[in-house]
Amino acid sequence: MVTTMLRLVADVVVTMDEAGRIFAPGAVDVADGRIVRVGPPDAPGPETVERVGGVLLPGLVDAHCHSPMTLLRGAGEGLPLGRWLTEVMWPREARMTGEDVYWGMTLAAAELLTAGITTSCEMYLWSADLARAAVDAGLRSVVCAPIVVAPGWERFGTWREQADAAVELAEAFADEPLVEVGIGPHSAYAVPPEGLEYAAAVAADHDMLLHLHVAESRDEDAEIRERHGSVPRLLAELGVLDAPRILAAHCVWMDDVDLELWARHRVAVAHCPGSNAKLASGIARIADMLDRGIVVAVATDGPASNDDLGLWEEVRLAPMLARLRALDAETAPDARQALAMATREAARALGRDDLGVLAPGRRADLVRLDLADPTFAPIVEATDVVSHLVWSVGARAVTDVWVEGRRVVAGRRCLTVDVDRARREVDARARRLAEEAS
Ligand SMILES: [Zn+2]
Repeated sequence: MVTTMLRLVADVVVTMDEAGRIFAPGAVDVADGRIVRVGPPDAPGPETVERVGGVLLPGLVDAHCHSPMTLLRGAGEGLPLGRWLTEVMWPREARMTGEDVYWGMTLAAAELLTAGITTSCEMYLWSADLARAAVDAGLRSVVCAPIVVAPGWERFGTWREQADAAVELAEAFADEPLVEVGIGPHSAYAVPPEGLEYAAAVAADHDMLLHLHVAESRDEDAEIRERHGSVPRLLAELGVLDAPRILAAHCVWMDDVDLELWARHRVAVAHCPGSNAKLASGIARIADMLDRGIVVAVATDGPASNDDLGLWEEVRLAPMLARLRALDAETAPDARQALAMATREAARALGRDDLGVLAPGRRADLVRLDLADPTFAPIVEATDVVSHLVWSVGARAVTDVWVEGRRVVAGRRCLTVDVDRARREVDARARRLAEEAS
């Protein structure tokens, strides 16, 4: 294979590294899908130079999503979580085919990529179809094959069969650089204790990310709370927290003991402030989590419970709600931390030290934003760029996106997905699912 090295030169390069380095102007050298060098543009380097201008940022990482739920977007508006799940989501999902999931994911991938999200951590039925759609769209994904024991899921077998299917899926995609397969025992209320233990053992044996929902709403786990104190305490009793990489979504209803368990076992949190607000679940204690050294990422959750996959909204909502909860504008996270929760810290939450930062050796997943957008002005100091990215700019200024060094969005257009076709497919399939469900 011939290695071609490319230099992208921008007005501002925001590395999102620990030191918060910003190069203005800056250059990112890319070869074979990896970043080779980041720094000032005048150093000797490759012959092929592309002056992209604007701001270069690491591709955003969505730490918790059920992207194919684009098929269910808008359904059940205004219902509380329990009724929304049992009356609207589950009947539709019981009829969903692998092909439905493929198209739901394809449309979602176009939406994610054009907003600057280059990696999504997924948990949804028909995982193989989901993964294939993501690969076809050029989106990077961590696909956590679900384990659910609920009406409609009998067709995927027992919890043990579903867990074993996760290992088979990992083997099937072992040579695909865009896909990592994890295991997703849905939650302590949708998987029996033995299933949780088994999933943790599988995760440990195969070094897979273990991804699950924890303490999303106040009432969902009342029974577990009564018997075990809390879901985190139950997971600790079962030995589930000894799995090597654990990512827990939501974690809204956590007391101090729960947080200590998370810190001790290095459980990372996928914080979903938009979804938690829309479904009135509550506000997670992220300032207290950060205090204890818990890794916190932001996430959209599925587009049926938080209807766009923009992620920038969660970057903004995370500090907003944390400040509101504390009635203190100085409470964590600040703007830089909030943006890190969608880049460096999100990569860390997934256990992926090859993503989330513009640095040599990391994957060449990059986003370019248009510095001419009015929301970027004024820039008095270079660090203003980071504040603006969080508080005023967002997805509106994303123009170009690279994943694994390949340009997948150019001039705001997704090059890898026929968006009109995907929209028509999702529309027709969503109508069918709604009819069959009623
Ligand atoms: Zn979820």
